[in-house]
This record gives sequence, structure tokens and C-alpha cells, in this order.
Amino acid sequence: MLKENDTFIVVGVDYTSEGIGLAKVEGFPLFINNLIIGEEAEVKVTKVLRNYGLAKIIRFTEKSADRIEPLIPEMIHLGGCQFCQLNYDAEVRFKLSKVNRALSVIGGLDYTVSKIHPAPTASFYRNKTTLPLVQKKNGEVVSGLYRFNTHELVIMPLSEYDDERVLAIMNNIKRLITKHNISVYDEEINQGDIKKVMIRTSYYLNEVMVVLITKNDKTPNLDAFCRDLVSETPLVTTIVHNINSRKTNVNLGEKEVVLYGDGVIHDKLHDLTFTISSKSFFQVNTPQAEKLYARAIEMARLTKDDVVLDAYSGIGTITLLAAKVAKHVSGVEIVSEAVKDAKLNALNNNLKNVRFYEDDAGDYLVKNKDIQKVDVVFVDPPRKGLSEKFINTLLKVKPERLIYISCDPATLSRDLKILTSIYDITDFEALDMFPRTAHVESITSLSLK
Ligand code: SAH
Repeated sequence: MLKENDTFIVVGVDYTSEGIGLAKVEGFPLFINNLIIGEEAEVKVTKVLRNYGLAKIIRFTEKSADRIEPLIPEMIHLGGCQFCQLNYDAEVRFKLSKVNRALSVIGGLDYTVSKIHPAPTASFYRNKTTLPLVQKKNGEVVSGLYRFNTHELVIMPLSEYDDERVLAIMNNIKRLITKHNISVYDEEINQGDIKKVMIRTSYYLNEVMVVLITKNDKTPNLDAFCRDLVSETPLVTTIVHNINSRKTNVNLGEKEVVLYGDGVIHDKLHDLTFTISSKSFFQVNTPQAEKLYARAIEMARLTKDDVVLDAYSGIGTITLLAAKVAKHVSGVEIVSEAVKDAKLNALNNNLKNVRFYEDDAGDYLVKNKDIQKVDVVFVDPPRKGLSEKFINTLLKVKPERLIYISCDPATLSRDLKILTSIYDITDFEALDMFPRTAHVESITSLSLK
């Protein structure tokens, strides 16, 4: 049995679902940050748990030909971004194999996916970032991301994911926090005020939302801070104050106050414009989202007679794109702010053949299973996949076509195992929405047998 501080020479054989290198010692898995498949390294065990252990690299004995110099060297210390040091072709190949493996191992399906849409740019693509702040002993305010498996901040003015406009905005925010004496939250003693800053940038329009996340609802000097921020950073079009007093990993709290602008930003997807508020979901990679939705709509082969349900509809992206072709589309979504955005989006894009419902997708389907005829259902659930209630009811409703957009091949495969009892997979494409991370998106088109 291996124990802490043991050293071994290991070979990277795989990645964890979060993209951490995986090697085995006598069949026992070790998670090793910064180890690429095929690389050999001497590692030291840092922790042994029941089913796996953690180890760190002491030295490489053989490096992979796929290894590249990360654009931002600090990125290698983070969890979940193993792929900053992997060439992009190898990353895309791995993602396709990850999808196929899930389909076969978890789904028990005899289906091979051959198509993956790589992202046009692998770096600086995210339109949303949430950065924790820390105040150093010398008073300097810094931001960054957490070191692999810790709550320790790796200081980085800009990460390789974020839209490059974030750098200048964050630099101004950090300087103005010091200038206006706003206290920075200290996690260890659970004191101080400003915890994190969330920035949403519009890909197509010149709009930026800044969300200041604080512990307390009264933050001294916030008005003066905002005046300076907007006069020195004209890019910023709205500022929201979000209060999150709980000690939690969840970024946003319930309570919000708009400090400047109208509290939302807008972005485009194809020829539609969307209003997005701070708590609503919006795909983080706008050009890839456009590709995803275009393919999903094409695969659905919608006609003007089709009645459509878009479940997990967010701000109504798929709902409205489908409504341009179909007879009627209903969207169901659980987050009330997103439903509010969706209704406004239908109005602003002049699409009248839609209705939005604030509900759990499963509950909504149960309530409507007998009264509504549905030809096509789109589902785009969060990582945990479809609920049992939703799937069981869907098997009774039996829409002719089902388009399943997924951000987790594992839960998708679990759900497909059940859905393929009455559906055939007619099309399947993977898509890289999140370059430099291990996450992969996919679209599955299903037709009733
Ligand atoms: N289709 C949208 C949103 C996809 S993200 C888009 O592409 O933009 C998944 C959405 O499901 C989120 O908006 C989330 O708030 C919503 N959601 C999560 N759990 C839900 C549930 N149980 N019922 C309905 N919607 C849910």
C-alpha cells in the first residue's frame, strides 16, 4: 500500500473529469497536476485517500511532444486547466475520445462520434469571469484563481480564459478599491467586505457589466468608487452590487442593487439580440454558442407546423432561434431572473409565438403531459443532466424528435441509455465550448423508433 511521501516513476495514462493527470501505481490511481498523457515523471505522493491519491511532480523523465509553453505560465498551478500546456489539436482529440468513451462505458451504446467542432480561438474566449480578491500585507489588492485542490490564490492579473478587456478593467477596480479604502474580504477570519468581482463582456456589442460581490450590504464609499470606475473605464456600461454574506463557494448572493446603468448587458446570437442579467445563464463562449445553436436547430429539422418545447431555456436563446421557424415554442426555466430576461428577449426580437414558464422542467412536463401536443423537445440541462421525473415523463409524452444539448458526456450517456429504449440516435456532434479545460459540449439528435 502506498503512503504519503513515497516516490514513484509514473506514466500519465488519462485525465480526471476535471482534466488533472492520472497515473496508476499497482492499479491505484494517483491524480497529478500538470502531467500529460504519455509523459513519464518522478512523483511524490502528497495524500492517500480510500479510492485515489494525490501526488506532485518532482521531475519529468520524459515529456510529451504535445506539451506547449502556456501563454500564462501561472495557469499550470490551477486545477481544471491541464490543457493550457497541451497543444490544442491534442486537446480536441482527447475531448472527442472522452465523449466516445462515456457513450460506450456509461451508456453501453454502440455509437461512435466522429465530428467535433474545435473553437476558433483557444485562449481569452470567456465572456464571463469571476475573480476572487485578496489584499496583500503591503496593502496591494490582487486577483487570481485558486491553486489546484486548495483555497490559495495564484495571483494572475489575467487568466488564459478571460476576454482580454478584463485586464484593464480589473486593474482599475483593484486600484480604486485601495483609493477608496474599501475593505477586502479575508476568508480565514471571515471579515472584510469585497469578496469577488464578476465581469460580463459582450462579444458583439461594446458593453461590460461589473458585479461587485460583497459580504455586507452597506459598503462605505461604493458610490464614489463607481463614479471613478465609469469615468476612468468607459467600457463599463453597468455596475451591480451583489451581497453574499454566506461563507460559501457559490459566487452570487440573493440580494442585488444596481449602482450604475440598467443592470443588464446585451449580446447577439445570429440575428437576435439578448438581454442578460447578472444571475442568468449565458454560454461563456459566444461564437461557439452560435455554432452550437445553429447545429441544434438544423438537426431538429423544424417546420412551420412544429410545436416545440425548450426545456432548461435560460434567457430563451434556443427558444427564440427555434421560434423563427416553428409554429410555437414554450420555454421552461427555473431561475426567475432568466425567465424575466427571456420574456423581454421575445418582446425585443418581435417573436410572438413563444411562452415562458418559470418552473422545474420535470414538474412542468408532468403538469402538461396530457394537454399539450409536442413535436420537438430541446433539452439543455446543467451538468447533472435530466431529472428522473423529466425523463420518465418524456418517455410517456414521446415527442417525435428530441435534441439533447449536454455539457457533461457522463450524465448525457446515463440519460441516453434510458432514452434509447424508444429513440434512435440520428446525429451526434461534439463541440469545444471551453478550450483549455477538460469540459466538452455535445448535441445529440434523437428520433422516435
Ligand atoms: N438553453 C439555455 C440555458 C442552458 S443552461 C442557453 O443555452 O442559454 C441550463 C439552464 O437550466 C440554466 O438556465 C438553469 O438555470 C436551468 N435549470 C437548472 N435546473 C433546472 C430545472 N430543474 N428546471 C428548469 N431549468 C433548470
